[in-house]
Amino acid sequence: MRTVDVKQFVMLPNGERGYAWQTIFAADALKLAEPRLRCPECKGAVGLFRRSADEAMPDRAEHKKKNPGCSLGNHFDGVKRLAANPIEPDEKSINEQSDN
Ligand SMILES: [Zn+2]
Repeated sequence: MRTVDVKQFVMLPNGERGYAWQTIFAADALKLAEPRLRCPECKGAVGLFRRSADEAMPDRAEHKKKNPGCSLGNHFDGVKRLAANPIEPDEKSINEQSDN
């Protein structure tokens, strides 16, 4: 996936500052020092990967465990489900996109 959730100290929608999940590009997440990460859709753990030398693969995030219930992964079976061990699934990303 090209986007990832990171937990950062940010301006919240209510105008206060605090820690919140934000969906950003994997390329931007790679610039952060040891960010906390999760999949924007299924909230599963993900790892970051730099683009391959031949650029066949872009900067990206990949699930640490395959989740057939996540449309952002390569094993989607058509039914969206949270990861088996979702990370803070009750905390929405503050800029979560509603694309369904
Ligand atoms: Zn996912």
